[in-house]
Parts: sequence; structure tokens; C-alpha cells
Amino acid sequence: MSGSADHGRPGTATGDRDHDADLLWLVDIRRLRSEHRGRRQITGTAAVPDLRLETAEVPGDSVGYELDIDATGSDVTVTGRIDVVWRADCRRCLDPIERSETMRLQEVFQVVEIEGETWPIVDDRIDLGLVVREHVLLALPLAPVCRDDCGGPDPDDDHGLLQPGSDGPVAMSDPRWAALEQLHFD
Ligand SMILES: [Zn+2]
Repeated sequence: MSGSADHGRPGTATGDRDHDADLLWLVDIRRLRSEHRGRRQITGTAAVPDLRLETAEVPGDSVGYELDIDATGSDVTVTGRIDVVWRADCRRCLDPIERSETMRLQEVFQVVEIEGETWPIVDDRIDLGLVVREHVLLALPLAPVCRDDCGGPDPDDDHGLLQPGSDGPVAMSDPRWAALEQLHFD
């Protein structure tokens, strides 16, 4: 029997609201197996610390999640999706950008993990925070632009940036070139 009063928090929260955000994402597999027959779906919103790059960030480090955890075998699989809203400044015109992003997860945790492929089970616990953090950071843009054809702050001065069929290297979305363009303004 799975508990009907499952509030879907990733961790094994005991009502302690001051729980460290890192600990929130730790899931006790032994307990999952004994109390939920190894299967559980968790949904909600929680913070994963430090969801930011120099170029973009997730306000409040807030992540929405809907994840199925399956610990019925010796491995633990986690599937589902996470949602974030990220903010950045356009590299060309500096306008603020806000986008929502949904990521699909399918991850495997093992006692002896395969580096780069699976995640470790440590002391009968899995750390969903590691997985979520990796997915979110990979989704954040390194060179955010408000739209693909953003011409920068001065619409009269950057036609060259967008010329189709130019035989130069593919540099339209490279922020270093955008910066060079700005040097020509005066
Ligand atoms: Zn822009």
C-alpha cells in the first residue's frame, strides 16, 4: 500500500521546512522499497542550489518536477520531466529574456555507477539534485539572444551581421562577433 498522504516532495521530509535544499533531493531507497514497494511519483516545485551560469540563471533556483522513481530492481530509474524558467540578457541588444524550458529525464542510478552514463546509489540514497542540476545547467544558454535575428541595439548598423550566404565562418550567433560589431558603432 502506498501512502495516500504523499505530498510528493523528493526527500523524506518530516515537516521540517528549514531542511537544507540539498537534502531535499535525497531519496532514501530502502525506505522507498519498504513503504512504497519501490515505486513512487513525486511532483512539485523545489529549489536546487545555484542554478546559474554567467550568462543566464533560474530565478529562485526553482524547479518544477514530475518524476517517477522505480526502485523495484537493483538499479533505480528516474523518468519524467522538469520545468524551469530562466532569465538572461540578450547578448546583442541587452534586452532581458525570460523563457520556460521543459526537460525530459531518463536516468539510472546504480551501486557501482558507470561514469558518464549512470548515477551512484550511496548509502541507499540517490541524489536527484545532481541530476536535476546537470540537466538545467545544460539547458541554460551560453550566448542568449532575444531572437535569432536580433540585430543589436542599433538597427541601422548591423546588416552585415545577418547577411545570408556570407562565406565567413558561421559566426552569427557567436557572442564574440556581436561584441566586435559594437566596436564599429563610433
Ligand atoms: Zn536582442
